[in-house]
Amino acid sequence: MAAASRPPRALVIGGSLGGLFAANLLHRAGWDVEVFEQSAEPLAGRGAGIITHPDIFDALARIGIATDEGIGVDIEGRVAFGRDGGTLGTLPVRQCLTTWGRLHELLLAAFPADRYRLGHACSGVEQDAKGVTARFRNGASARGDLLVGADGIRSAVRAQLSPETAPRYAGYIAWRGLVGENDLTPQTRRDLFPKFAFSLAPREHMLGYPVAGFGHSTLAGERCFNFVWYRPAHAERELPGLCTDIHGRIHDMSIPPPLIRLEVIAAMRAAARDSLSPQFAEVVARARQPFFQAIFDLESARMHCGRIALLGDAAFVARPHVGMGVSKASGDAMALAGLLRKADNDLAAALPEYSAQRARFGRAVVAHARELGAYLEACAAGKTTAAERHTPEAVMRDIAVTRTF
Ligand SMILES: Cc1cc2nc3c(=O)[nH]c(=O)nc-3n(C[C@H](O)[C@H](O)[C@H](O)COP(=O)(O)OP(=O)(O)OC[C@H]3O[C@@H](n4cnc5c(N)ncnc54)[C@H](O)[C@@H]3O)c2cc1C
Repeated sequence: MAAASRPPRALVIGGSLGGLFAANLLHRAGWDVEVFEQSAEPLAGRGAGIITHPDIFDALARIGIATDEGIGVDIEGRVAFGRDGGTLGTLPVRQCLTTWGRLHELLLAAFPADRYRLGHACSGVEQDAKGVTARFRNGASARGDLLVGADGIRSAVRAQLSPETAPRYAGYIAWRGLVGENDLTPQTRRDLFPKFAFSLAPREHMLGYPVAGFGHSTLAGERCFNFVWYRPAHAERELPGLCTDIHGRIHDMSIPPPLIRLEVIAAMRAAARDSLSPQFAEVVARARQPFFQAIFDLESARMHCGRIALLGDAAFVARPHVGMGVSKASGDAMALAGLLRKADNDLAAALPEYSAQRARFGRAVVAHARELGAYLEACAAGKTTAAERHTPEAVMRDIAVTRTF
């Protein structure tokens, strides 16, 4: 494959968590790696809470990133609140909650800065017997032995390899946001810290957990509370209105947080007062910059084609009920680097095995996440099935727990 005189060269498209896990692992395995991220601005400072599972820590350790208690907030248990704020139940489940920003900062610092290129939106890929070429909208191009498509749910790499694979909207959205611990009243702070909390309303599902604060501190008093509030939003009747920005421009299914109209946020906060427990209504009222994401399922038939491998959200997107987005991406990256090492960097031997292993895993995660979201999806479609998924016991037992797929 690569000439004996030079290390094999990998092009990684997408500089978020999946791309950086893969880039770091390949770099440490001796590959000459370059990352191309479409955003012209550094991604730092974006994102909210991330639920961790063991794969994330395994991948960080393989990269050589040491983690201590500063990586996240440890919680010992779960609690469900009723509409009046009373406790409906508790469950002991230990977990570590971190943030997208913290993980991105660690992974970026571990990777050579001069090999991470901002402002490079991939517009097409071509491959032949000798290599693969990526072309970028800024006119640049790059050539390598392997190309990793880690460019997320709207992947340009996937669109070219497998145009028939498209995200499927589940009928509901998740409002998300962070509020500083000290911006909450003492009573709410006592109720929510440090717990994984739930509040269920008809057709809706709210959860939240503590994470590191805006300055990454995990010390009491300096943390944040992260919330995720699932609500139905009809694809034609409601989503376009939510996605119409402060300038009147309609975005396709998602909108940058600063562009969300104030009346949309005010209506969401009013609905929180009407339907959520008082603790969560307060969290929503005081969150700094709430934003929403439409919930999708995405499944790719396979994760490779010749010299190209798909990874993370570019290949499979599971609804966030499983809390597996980052874990899955880190698992993909470990499998890719591990199988390449095992095959002595022979792509023809490693990539089909990578695709088979990780597509099996991706399908299982997407299917389980769909089951967990079955009640919300049914409500969004005007049905009332899967109500057994919408009890305090069921959500505390099932949502975002570590399990084997
Ligand atoms: C800024 C940001 C914040 C996030 N915050 C959270 C969060 O708080 N909680 C959570 O659960 N998940 C969050 N996610 C999603 C989470 O990172 C993913 O679900 C998961 O980690 C899988 O990551 P990924 O790298 O495969 O995909 P993504 O994280 O979606 O990353 C894809 C990357 O590819 C880039 N890209 C897209 N198209 C192109 C192109 N044509 N050329 C070059 N680059 C391209 C994107 O800009 C992005 O950086 C966030 C993603 C981003 C980008």
